[in-house]
Amino acid sequence: MTLNCTYAPDNIFAKILSGAIPSVKVYEDDRVLSFMDAFPQANGHTLVIPKVSACNLFDVSSEDLQNLIHHTQRIATALRDGLEPDGIRIAQFNGESAGQTVFHLHFHIIPVYNGNQVRAHAAGQMADLNELRGFADKIRAKL
Ligand code: 5GP
Repeated sequence: MTLNCTYAPDNIFAKILSGAIPSVKVYEDDRVLSFMDAFPQANGHTLVIPKVSACNLFDVSSEDLQNLIHHTQRIATALRDGLEPDGIRIAQFNGESAGQTVFHLHFHIIPVYNGNQVRAHAAGQMADLNELRGFADKIRAKL
């Protein structure tokens, strides 16, 4: 089967989960972590990841996936209410060919604002930490 992957425990999101790399957190429980994308495609670009070690959509149980999408909807709703974008993209990439760059399963929540172009995927500049904290606070306030 193509799109097989072996989970690498030293990937960036595993390091964020262990606390080895800092992140600007939006939400955390025993199964899910949500944090701000450090190279955002738009203001408020948020990621949602499971705590289980899964490298893509095909590497996770349907139960864990259901929980992940449930929280993605919750956080997207809080982002909608906190940042009031004109639209919201939910994205998820499987395999390098599809654009996946971090091999720990995740959903992107990307706000779209009329008149502002969404920046290219995985090509952006590192965001200012204080700005990320400001977006995270606004989203968290609506959770
Ligand atoms: P993918 O390309 O795998 O779908 O998405 C990976 C996402 O992780 C990209 O949007 C990228 O900007 C983000 N990212 C990469 N490195 C880091 C990091 O160290 N911290 C955070 N918060 N996000 C990261």
